[in-house]
Amino acid sequence: MIIPKANKLDALQLQEVESIAADFDCSILEIQGRNRCVYAILGDEGREVMFKRIAGLPYISKVDMIESPYKLMDRRSGLSDHRVRVGKTEVGKDKPFIIAGPCTIDPANPNFYLESAHALKEAGVDALRGGVWKPRTNPYSFQGDNHSLSIILQAREETGLPIDIEVMDSTQLKLALEAKVDVVQVGTRNAQNYCLLKEIGQLTAGSDTAVLLKRGRHMASPNEFIASAEYLVAEGNPNVMLCPRGTTPPLDGYRNHPDESITPLLKNRTWAPVVVDPSHSVGHADFVPACSLAAIAYGADGLCIESHIQPAKGIGDDPKQAILPQKVKDLVSACNEVWKNRYLP
Ligand code: PEP
Ligand code: MN
Repeated sequence: MIIPKANKLDALQLQEVESIAADFDCSILEIQGRNRCVYAILGDEGREVMFKRIAGLPYISKVDMIESPYKLMDRRSGLSDHRVRVGKTEVGKDKPFIIAGPCTIDPANPNFYLESAHALKEAGVDALRGGVWKPRTNPYSFQGDNHSLSIILQAREETGLPIDIEVMDSTQLKLALEAKVDVVQVGTRNAQNYCLLKEIGQLTAGSDTAVLLKRGRHMASPNEFIASAEYLVAEGNPNVMLCPRGTTPPLDGYRNHPDESITPLLKNRTWAPVVVDPSHSVGHADFVPACSLAAIAYGADGLCIESHIQPAKGIGDDPKQAILPQKVKDLVSACNEVWKNRYLP
């Protein structure tokens, strides 16, 4: 990892660094953080002479050799001071960052989504979520609808809140990016779909688009989870939020095995904000508040909660796990209290 003295290398400097790296069969990747660029050495970077030659250049501040499976996501990397923003809000700065909204947008009843969005704005959330396209276990279940994209765009327009939607393939990704969604969500089933992760990283490189990366449900180890995020950053987008959402096998009575407890581990190993999804974790509206508060106590920077104005009339996961916007409002203030009193190492 190369860190220049200025915010960015100019074209000639970059050329010089690239030519040194090329002498050692390595190449250079520019990663645009919010405040400055850092440069990753791609290839066998354990070449001491190459390091010394680059570190000796007058415009280089330092060259770090990080022994880590995820050099860019590592807390010791040059991106450690990178802050992720969604819209105008820095995630996890002064209070928990709350994303909320229905699991699935019902294209036949747009008012459920729009009214939920307004009620959630009133409840004080920072961003709206809503499934346009849905990963369903059963191929005969509702798979989502392109029309739902216009509904969530209308909700953004009317509320002024940034929006988060899940994409599962290249076509959906391109539609989402054309619509300038603020957060692209990668679901648990695609958390290790490296081709999709790379494409998202490439198409959002250098942009303000953030990515909410869910943890792989088959108990992806913290390192595997972070390595998935590394794919996004290595392609040029450091605006990554890590989202534990429960793993299999489920704890008897819950939808999954709650995993908000990995938050301190993730925060110890990386600089990326952690935004926990309590809804898929416990999978039952009654248990969502406790899981949310636990996540904040564990040091999470935010939450992604399913909420619907009339859960019983929702589709997808809403009837069983969405909480009412009024509950979200109460939860936001309870989370703010826990946030103020949480213990951070
Ligand atoms: C969702 O957020 O509605 C969803 C399908 O999430 P996950 O990928 O965590 O199951
Ligand atoms: Mn859902």
